[in-house]
Amino acid sequence: MTIRNKLTFLFSGVIAVLLLAFAFVIYFSFSENRETEYYNSLRHTAIIKANLLLDAKVQPGVLQLIYKNSPNSFFQEEVAIYDTSFHLLYHDAVEIDKVKETRQMIDEIVAKKQIKFYQGQMQAVGILYHHNHKDYVITSAANDQSGYAKLRNLRYTLIISFFVAIVLIYMAGHVFASKALQPVSDLIDEVDIITATNLDLRVHEGNGKDEIAELAVTFNAMLNRLEQSFDAQKEFVSNISHELRTPITAMLTELQVTVEKERSNEFYKEAIHHAISDTQKLVRLSNSLLDLAKANYDHTEISFRDTRLDEVLLDARNDVMHDHPDYRISIIFEQEIEDDNFISISANAYLLKVAFMNLMENGCKFSDPKEASVAISYFQNKTLLRFQDQGIGISEEEISKIFNPFYRGGDKKLVAGNGIGLSLTKKIVELHQGNIAVSSRPGSGTTFTVEFLHL
Ligand code: ADP
Repeated sequence: MTIRNKLTFLFSGVIAVLLLAFAFVIYFSFSENRETEYYNSLRHTAIIKANLLLDAKVQPGVLQLIYKNSPNSFFQEEVAIYDTSFHLLYHDAVEIDKVKETRQMIDEIVAKKQIKFYQGQMQAVGILYHHNHKDYVITSAANDQSGYAKLRNLRYTLIISFFVAIVLIYMAGHVFASKALQPVSDLIDEVDIITATNLDLRVHEGNGKDEIAELAVTFNAMLNRLEQSFDAQKEFVSNISHELRTPITAMLTELQVTVEKERSNEFYKEAIHHAISDTQKLVRLSNSLLDLAKANYDHTEISFRDTRLDEVLLDARNDVMHDHPDYRISIIFEQEIEDDNFISISANAYLLKVAFMNLMENGCKFSDPKEASVAISYFQNKTLLRFQDQGIGISEEEISKIFNPFYRGGDKKLVAGNGIGLSLTKKIVELHQGNIAVSSRPGSGTTFTVEFLHL
């Protein structure tokens, strides 16, 4: 069921219950009123007739004649007057006695002074009437036809107006719900046309105040993020293709030129060296991409263990120096490690080693001589690793870009690389709930500070 229908039914339902309650209250209060008024009217008639007989000394025969000749005597009050010893003094209806008075009833009237009751469809009252130091018991009964007709009328009016009102309320509810949900329908229409090819489209943010506007604003913010991520992915893919194409094209051209004619051994050797170097670039690139893919995994899919940072650093240093025997990397403990926990974090040792190797390699490759150092320190609940070099440094305008995938500094032509290293390192550090910051002065060196919360 749509929200619009739900709202309409809910609205109509609530109003229907209220209307019904309202109608019942009106009906029953009218019904009570009718009953009370009719008892009063019966009482008045009884007293008037008693006065006519006892005070005005009107002949009973005259009263009976009036009663008999009235247009519809069945609905007229039939009055009977007794003395307290159940002797009938007067009776309107000589032929049909509507109220069958009994000795017991007379006694009850004397005891209670007034009783009210129904005799079949008729309402009746019995009263004790005091006149000239004597007590009389009068009963008066009739059928309140006009009262019941009014009650019936009211019932029909209420039932008909209830159903008419429900139909009107349902229609009004439907219109209001549609109107209230119109912005949602508009939003759906707008969202419907947004696809991967037109992620630049945005939905209208309405008045900027209500919940729908809030939803539209949130949705637009999500679109911004998606668009950025899509653009980044596109750029990433185009960068990868570029990085792959460059060594492959170079290798292809070199090999084609080599096989064009007979060459000297020296020439072949050089060509093979160039091909090996291009292939190594490709291997490095594919390894970096693989590591990047691993670092992009869901956090829960990567295994984390308690790991000593100094051990990972030593491991990384060994691997870097194995690949580049000319690099010099020193690891310095700035404080004595009093507790293993100060230097341990929950980590994936492999990914952490990749990150440390990148920072060490960068430190050496952008320095002359190719030297770098890593200083380990801790304070409070943090462990700090400072990767330092005295190399060429990074200019201020480049510093904000170096963590972008495939970004390479202006000096990239001089040094081998593919621009993935730092973006990968940042991802890995963040995956370990750490922080990475850089400070650098062109010409005098660079420091990358990596900060982890220790165990
Ligand atoms: P790559 O090293 O393959 O070029 P990175 O992502 O590791 O890619 O680094 C991106 C850029 O940041 C480098 O091209 C370089 O300009 C700059 N950079 C990184 N580390 C250093 C450093 N220690 N000294 C100077 N520049 C650096």
